[in-house]
Order: sequence, then C-alpha cells, then structure tokens
Amino acid sequence: MQNVDPTEINKFNDISSQWWDPEGQFKPLHQINPLRVQFIDMNVAGLNGKKVLDVGCGGGLLSEAMAKAGANVTAIDMGEEGLSVAKLHALESKVSIDYQQSTAEEFAENHKQQFEVVTCLEMLEHVPHPESIVAACAQLVKPGGKVIFSTLNRTLKAKLLGVYMAEYVLQWVPKGTHDANKFIKPSELLSVASENGLFAKQMTGIHYNPLTSAFYTSDRNVDVNYIVCCEKEA
Ligand code: SAH
Repeated sequence: MQNVDPTEINKFNDISSQWWDPEGQFKPLHQINPLRVQFIDMNVAGLNGKKVLDVGCGGGLLSEAMAKAGANVTAIDMGEEGLSVAKLHALESKVSIDYQQSTAEEFAENHKQQFEVVTCLEMLEHVPHPESIVAACAQLVKPGGKVIFSTLNRTLKAKLLGVYMAEYVLQWVPKGTHDANKFIKPSELLSVASENGLFAKQMTGIHYNPLTSAFYTSDRNVDVNYIVCCEKEA
C-alpha cells in the first residue's frame, strides 16, 4: 500500500495553476523560499555542484531556486498537475531539473545513496506515515550527506497561526490546507530521524512579523514552522 493520501494530492492538484503566482495561494511559500534556500546552502556547505533530490517538490519553487544556485536537481512528487506546472516553468526559466512522478519510498528502491543532499520541505504533514518518508530520505542520501526537513510543530500556537490565522483570518492559503493533528513535534521528527541514522546538525524556526509583513528565522523558537538539517552517519 502506498503512503499517499489521495485527498491531499487532489488538494494540491486543484490549485496547481497558482504555484508561481507570488500573490496567490502559495504566497507564504514564495515569501519563505529565500530563507529556506539560504539555510540549505549554508548547511550543505554550498549547493553549487551538489547532487540534490527534492521530495514532494510541488510546483518546483525550491527545486528551481536550488538549481539556480548551481545544484544538479532531481525532484519528485505524486501530484501530476503540480509536476506539469513545474516542468513548464523550468523551461521558461531555462533551468534543467529532472522531474519525476514517484513516491519517496518507490524512488528509494532504485536510487539508494545517490544524493549528496535530500530536501523534504512542507510535505511530511500531508502524508499518512511521515516516518516512512524519513526512512526513505535516509536511504536516498549518501553516507555523510545531508537531509533537510521542514514542517509545522504540533503546538497550540502553530494551530492558531498556521491554521486559524493563515486559512481563516488572513486567508493566505485555502481552508483545509492543514490539519493541525498532523503537525509534528521536533522531538518526534528527530527521534525517527536518528532511528534511521540521521542526526540533527542545525534547526531553526521560521516566523512571520505582522508589523513588517516579512518572514524571518530564529534559532530560539521552533514553536510554529521549523526547518532542520540532519547528517547521515558515514
Ligand atoms: N516542497 C514544496 C511543496 C510543498 S506542498 C515546497 O515547500 O515548496 C506539499 C507537496 O507534497 C504537494 O506538491 C503534494 O502533491 C506533495 N505530496 C503529498 N503527499 C505526497 C506523497 N506521498 N508523495 C509525494 N508527494 C506528495
């Protein structure tokens, strides 16, 4: 049985035309993208020339940004429509990315230890069994390579900001985008990661400042959205 929730895939397929609209329903992802790329670039000692796999790539916001930073990017997702948008956009942007429709688990069967860097951002909270994605990422990365995850923390604050504010008050993203019960505590993520030989090197929180309408990172607070870089044991 596949570790895929068809309702989730359809939800993203339905709004796939919006992927590259900076003012559309993926606006928050557009806004945090430069922060994410900076975090990844710093933690992998430079993306330039690295062989990277982007898991759950959606319309390719992160995949393209990493390709533009010089990485050799392969990207997978189960959403057909998002992948079509991603492929077309890469043509327009004149970047070369290998987009494929696959689950992380299937891809891991034929691509063990092939990537220096594996990224899996804002995806774990949309699958039935996130621990199985973590295990697949651990198989895909080379020994000594890096795996970067980001997701939402299962706190009341994340439920208020990530669901109530973002979906109902500010209406940044469609209602029903997130189910707060599927958010993951950093301790849970890191425990599954270490069971798979992935050890956390750096974690930071991503926050929104309503006064400046800007996102920023802070290592002191991972209450809402957080990103973590793990190293695979050598
Ligand atoms: N990582 C991207 C997109 C996040 S949206 C970014 O941060 O910019 C979540 C994506 O995960 C969607 O494109 C959705 O289709 C994909 N997804 C959800 N479940 C999946 C699964 N089991 N396998 C592969 N992709 C999946």
